[in-house]
Amino acid sequence: MKILMVAPEYPATFWSFKYALPFVNRKTSLPPLGLLTVSSMLPAHWEKRLVDISSGPLEDKDILWADWVFVGAMLVQRKSAQEVILRAKSLGKKVAAGGPLFTTGYQDFIGVDTFVLNEGEPSIDEFVADLTAGNAKPFYTSDIKPDITKTPIPDWSLLNMKHYASMAMQVSRGCPFDCEFCDIVVINGRVPRVKTPEQVVRELDSLYDAGWRGSLFIVDDNFIGNKSKVKEILRSIKQWMKEKKRPFTLYTEASINLADDQELMTLMQEANFNSVFVGIETPSQEALLSCGKVQNLGKDLTEKVKILQRNGLQVQAGFILGFDSDTHKIFDDMIAFVQKTGIVTAMVGMLNALPETKLYKRLHDAGRLLHKPSDGNNTDFTINFVPKMDTKLLVEGYKKVLNSIFGPEKYYTRIITFLKEYKATAKETRSSFFSKVNAVVSAVWKLGILEKGKRHFWRLMIWTTFKKPELLPDAIALAICGFHFRAVLIHDMPGMKA
Ligand code: SF4
Repeated sequence: MKILMVAPEYPATFWSFKYALPFVNRKTSLPPLGLLTVSSMLPAHWEKRLVDISSGPLEDKDILWADWVFVGAMLVQRKSAQEVILRAKSLGKKVAAGGPLFTTGYQDFIGVDTFVLNEGEPSIDEFVADLTAGNAKPFYTSDIKPDITKTPIPDWSLLNMKHYASMAMQVSRGCPFDCEFCDIVVINGRVPRVKTPEQVVRELDSLYDAGWRGSLFIVDDNFIGNKSKVKEILRSIKQWMKEKKRPFTLYTEASINLADDQELMTLMQEANFNSVFVGIETPSQEALLSCGKVQNLGKDLTEKVKILQRNGLQVQAGFILGFDSDTHKIFDDMIAFVQKTGIVTAMVGMLNALPETKLYKRLHDAGRLLHKPSDGNNTDFTINFVPKMDTKLLVEGYKKVLNSIFGPEKYYTRIITFLKEYKATAKETRSSFFSKVNAVVSAVWKLGILEKGKRHFWRLMIWTTFKKPELLPDAIALAICGFHFRAVLIHDMPGMKA
């Protein structure tokens, strides 16, 4: 059996880092971890190939080689996923589709012969047996939340690692919280399932043996969902990092209560973490309460962010506009919050109701849904429900926030605010260090000579050189990310200016 795995293209969004990747000679950010893991669950004697369209084109000859085309996708890959499916069908191939995009919205797709919905592990053996017998069914699904201690190591052999800025690894699935807008709890459940320390070390070894050095994203929904188990794992990673001389720099996603646990933060430093993405969502207590973000409520969120920064973790954060309680004040409040916390990578999007979430059901029952599937993309101005605030006001306010926080003056000022607080503890890996050195020439050329806001770039360079010279690589890396954010505003968000 010949299987072609296809990862549909990621559109240019704030998360794609499309305009930053050329600075470090990489084609895309992250590998398609789900497809690589599925590959390891298929019979060893089957022939498998992978095309990740974000790193290179899908050719007709790739499709014609295969007996089946397997498409695995997230919500944001919706458009490309449908194109791949129709192309494979037009070339006479069978198509199987799985991943979050199809699990919560398979009804929107045409041309798929077999959907594998929900987590793949419980269904894959039956699917493989039927495929082998030539009678695959239209649907395979299960409500079982599988034990991920049995999940195999991803099949790195399918990947050209040179195309990627970072590798990826999963330590746990699920999140104990229950935010109204979040589809994670729908897909992966509220009881975090965690791999064993030995399993995590084996995966680290597999990446090391495959030749990877550099960034490693722990893709968990909430890395600290089960704190005691994750501490055991961190102790193993710490030991591994020591023995291997810290070949990877780690980053992940976690809830803000990480800042309440000094032992956990120290272990993360020792395991060579340098960054964490946190869902802050909004500075409005009323909105946090209404969306069930209880872990953020009643806290001095600015201080929590600074605690993380002082513990060697750059804080990236997600923000949402369009909660029912939001008024015209929210836009200035959000800009002020982002600036004072020094959250450089502030991902602001408009609230949308993702399929099967509590928010979706509430808005459906209230007759407020506009019946458009959301694609989870934070770079467009569509909203799939009727907001309480006037839609035009909301969109204008959203544009104002983006133009403000990514404009050169505020953006570079924010980097300085962050660097003042940041105590870098992670050891940069050789490859990521040299990537940054290679990036310096392009950064100086594009940001320090060609860009309109170049005086702000030089202000950052001078400040960092004199006040915190050891953080110059971080300053340059963040400046490059700013170039990407502004380029997305200009090229991919019609009506914006940057
Ligand atoms: S903390 Fe994050 S992952 Fe967990 S339910 Fe809330 S938004 Fe989802």
